[in-house]
Amino acid sequence: MGTKADGFWRAVGAIAAVAVVAAMTGFVVWAWPQLDDPGIGREVMGQDADTERLDGAVGELKDFSDKFGQDESDSLGKIPGFAFNSPRPAGTEGPPGHWCSREVVGYRIDFTAAKLAGGNRKLELYRWQKSFEQWSKASNGRYKFEYRGEADYPMAAPNADIPIDFSAVPAGEIAITYATDRSPSEDRWQGYIYRPLAGILGTGGVQQVPWTGEYEGLIQRGAVVLDSVDVLQSPLDVPGVYPHELGHALGLAHAPTRGQLMSEASGQQAVMESGDREGIRRLARAGC
Ligand SMILES: [Zn+2]
Repeated sequence: MGTKADGFWRAVGAIAAVAVVAAMTGFVVWAWPQLDDPGIGREVMGQDADTERLDGAVGELKDFSDKFGQDESDSLGKIPGFAFNSPRPAGTEGPPGHWCSREVVGYRIDFTAAKLAGGNRKLELYRWQKSFEQWSKASNGRYKFEYRGEADYPMAAPNADIPIDFSAVPAGEIAITYATDRSPSEDRWQGYIYRPLAGILGTGGVQQVPWTGEYEGLIQRGAVVLDSVDVLQSPLDVPGVYPHELGHALGLAHAPTRGQLMSEASGQQAVMESGDREGIRRLARAGC
């Protein structure tokens, strides 16, 4: 089938192939300028560091997907403002991993670590609801989301590649949880310490997409982990990290261009832009 859409997906596949490492785990992170000396980082990540983060400071990024799609372009020679985190295996054609837009995608939230960090459960729920609304609207209403209550989503292990155990997440749902990398001594943080959050505000992604069988190409589960110590005190209504990480759980990777919500170097003030909307619309139209 030599349709326009096929040509598009081939171009996107070439871009996506760069992020092989990200695809292997299904996870990409919200990259944030890392402090040069990680040993110093822990100690200076107080109010000053948070303020700098909230200003949306952008610097050199050390995320593993930082080269994502930089030199690629679509058939018109234009670099798209979006990318996908679950590209098809090489040599196959069709859309990348995506959620089925015929079914409502559910989400549950584990507020345990948010509460431990002094967060407000109502405010957090509001922020997630607003973030889901943004993506639903961006998809022209094709994607619909539903809050299904609280759940227990502790970290799989403090250093796990994939932060939570996907077997605990119902199919068709996104798990949202909070953790910290700062190893508080209190026992009550047990299960909510996640070292890879050091220097970043959160991480998000999807369970490995199957490329054969009944669910071929369909995302079954997604997850987001926010650094509760670093993000909850933001004065912003909906800090950019919420919809950004959610974008990863919806199948989007870092946009190859700057200025998008899904750009690697986007800040807490970032809002959804044309590339973000186009990316989620492509996924929503991809069929089930
Ligand atoms: Zn990201």
